[in-house]
Amino acid sequence: MDIGGLHKVSLIDYPGKIAAVIFCRGCNFRCPYCHNPELVDPKKFKPCLPEKEVYDFLRARKGKLDAVVISGGEPTVQADLVSCMKKIRKLGFLVKLDTNGALPDVLEHIFKDKLIDYVAMDVKAPLDAYSEMAGVRVDQRFIRRSIDLILQSAIPHEFRTTAASSRLKDDDILSIAREIRGAQRYVLQRFQPARTLAPVWRSEKPATDGELSEIAKRIGKTVRQVMIR
Ligand code: SF4
Repeated sequence: MDIGGLHKVSLIDYPGKIAAVIFCRGCNFRCPYCHNPELVDPKKFKPCLPEKEVYDFLRARKGKLDAVVISGGEPTVQADLVSCMKKIRKLGFLVKLDTNGALPDVLEHIFKDKLIDYVAMDVKAPLDAYSEMAGVRVDQRFIRRSIDLILQSAIPHEFRTTAASSRLKDDDILSIAREIRGAQRYVLQRFQPARTLAPVWRSEKPATDGELSEIAKRIGKTVRQVMIR
């Protein structure tokens, strides 16, 4: 695993659990609003963390942490993600995966082998306008398939959209909500303009809490729960 960072304790990354977060280095998307450029742009990579160090840390935290979140970057591009998940499970931790959903075959494998306990997938834009928000050409059928795999799985899940009001209109977010109809949880994430992969996005206007609450109301019962984070 190409590990760019380890957050040793988090109370917010795995709902209801105390978790460590592993940040994988590398991503197949280039979302202009990404606030982790050092995990996405190889020119900004810092030295990676030896895997052994991470497993040693986890071994020492048995009984103190409930779970490990594998985040990024994009974890599903890591060749040894499956073996990493197996090792973490063997240590007795719950596993949550954060993903952009671009590689449904990897997700299918992980689901089949029952390697995760929670999955969070970013849905960047309405499916027919995906490439602009992902910053690369995206085959929307892959995103659709990942959404379907998650909705049809028995695994607790959430979908998330970063809401930058001037780029993603209310109707776009409502359209995304329809794409994930019936989801357990849909999270509208506040856009953070301070640090973005594309410098031009630093002047983008974030949606206000009032605007997000309004959209959340309009999403209504399309999904089971809407949250603003
Ligand atoms: S926000 Fe986009 S570019 Fe950044 S890590 Fe997630 S998928 Fe990759």
